[in-house]
Amino acid sequence: MLLTGTIKHLLAKRFDGKIRFDEPMAAHTTFRIGGPADVLVLPETVEDVVDLLALLDAENVGWFVFGGGANLLVHDGGIRGVVISPAPGLSNIHIVQDNEENILVIAQSGATLWDLCRFAADNGLSGLMFATGIPGTIGGAAMMNAGTAEGDMSGVIMSLEIVSGPGEFRRVRREEMAFSYRSLRLPQDAAGYEGRPGIIVSATLRLDRRNPNGVKKEMEKRLAKRKQSQPGGFSAGSFFKNPPGASPAGELIDKAGLKGFVVGGAEVSKKHANFIINRKNASAGDVLVLMEMIRKRVHDAFGITLEPEVKIVGEPG
Ligand SMILES: Cc1cc2nc3c(=O)[nH]c(=O)nc-3n(C[C@H](O)[C@H](O)[C@H](O)COP(=O)(O)OP(=O)(O)OC[C@H]3O[C@@H](n4cnc5c(N)ncnc54)[C@H](O)[C@@H]3O)c2cc1C
Repeated sequence: MLLTGTIKHLLAKRFDGKIRFDEPMAAHTTFRIGGPADVLVLPETVEDVVDLLALLDAENVGWFVFGGGANLLVHDGGIRGVVISPAPGLSNIHIVQDNEENILVIAQSGATLWDLCRFAADNGLSGLMFATGIPGTIGGAAMMNAGTAEGDMSGVIMSLEIVSGPGEFRRVRREEMAFSYRSLRLPQDAAGYEGRPGIIVSATLRLDRRNPNGVKKEMEKRLAKRKQSQPGGFSAGSFFKNPPGASPAGELIDKAGLKGFVVGGAEVSKKHANFIINRKNASAGDVLVLMEMIRKRVHDAFGITLEPEVKIVGEPG
């Protein structure tokens, strides 16, 4: 259903100070690309999320949730309906259980992975080395099963607290989740709008005890390594998934001779070929044309079809 003036008025009244209209998504993605969201709501409490989804469900209004926008390409036409982000409002992190073997931490979904890594280092907790330097929020990291060759979110998540489509709170236990490479499938009754997942409001994570200096030093090493191997600038990280049973996507793109290849303002990074960089006011259209050229060249050269890791959302401009 369309967002009528009456619904906008209802939303503005309930979410006063936490709502924006015609908000450019480019301001909320690490790519710095994306047309306007009709409405952006930034809830500050779990109750806000419950109320919001109940209202949207009752009025049959479509919605989309994102976190730090570090894995998103938003089309130039923007996003219709309501866009919701728990960042930065829901960002509390605290220890809920602490004994010899088991340290359980609850992190709200709008906290960044970096906040969580710092919290772990300050409290001498390990288990998150793999997450050092990965941008984005806990909610996005859970949905993307973010990680590196060293590990991923599936190794630490014990449960996810979710608000589903009709605005119902639900705890999803680890046994009910299906993690795979850069993906997580949740049970049907935790679904949000049009079969997409509901809104993760927090994650319960199991970490281990270790000497804080050790954790900090290890993290610094990983940050330095990341700086050396990854390009700076505006991007969404690795654009394509590494294809199963083949060389990494970056290596295939490099061997296809595409490093430095440019379409409009978008460029294949010269430092790491699986990064597409928004070099100069790139549009989503530029990135999509470049994406298809890369896929074709890699397919022609190696018979491998690359699949995007980045989520492409919204309406073409
Ligand atoms: C420079 C750079 C380096 C990167 N390096 C890595 C890396 O080493 N490893 C890696 O795995 N990734 C990497 N990434 C990608 C990105 O950091 C991760 O995918 C991250 O987990 C995305 O989190 P986010 O909060 O930004 O998610 P978003 O991009 O905002 O959203 C991603 C997906 O998660 C969903 N989502 C987000 N929040 C919620 C929520 N609260 N509830 C339900 N669904 C939600 C969205 O709908 C979307 O489908 C990198 C990105 C950049 C820019």
